[in-house]
Amino acid sequence: MTTEVEYLDITRLHDEELYKAFLSRYGVDFKACMQCATCVSVCPLSDVCPGMPRLDMLLVGLGLFEEVARRLSPWICDQCMECSRHCPRKANPAKVMAALREYLTARYDVTGILMRVLKSKARKETRR
Ligand code: SF4
Ligand code: SF4
Repeated sequence: MTTEVEYLDITRLHDEELYKAFLSRYGVDFKACMQCATCVSVCPLSDVCPGMPRLDMLLVGLGLFEEVARRLSPWICDQCMECSRHCPRKANPAKVMAALREYLTARYDVTGILMRVLKSKARKETRR
């Protein structure tokens, strides 16, 4: 007798409310990014994860979180801030990477607790 185990494909989960909460919590302005790739040239980890962090900025700006969820970049970014220091548009890609990690951690938390905390924090911050 074989037992089939159903695995949850977390890359397919998308929570619209969390997405909005995430954007408001970090106050990220994706429109500021002009895709110049200066950040890629200064990021010490872009060899490990091609296009980092420019590609992440583009994917998040387009709302393609399923694509972001498949990338290694949010997990390996060490917050050295080089990208943000050199960004000519002050788009703050390092902040975006930190926000992405928080967003993905909330998605991967099967208890749902972190997602609740994140949403409630975002709600409080937008009320200010
Ligand atoms: S985040 Fe800044 S440096 Fe990177 S592509 Fe966008 S505008 Fe250029
Ligand atoms: S903060 Fe992260 S994305 Fe930016 S340069 Fe450093 S490692 Fe790369």
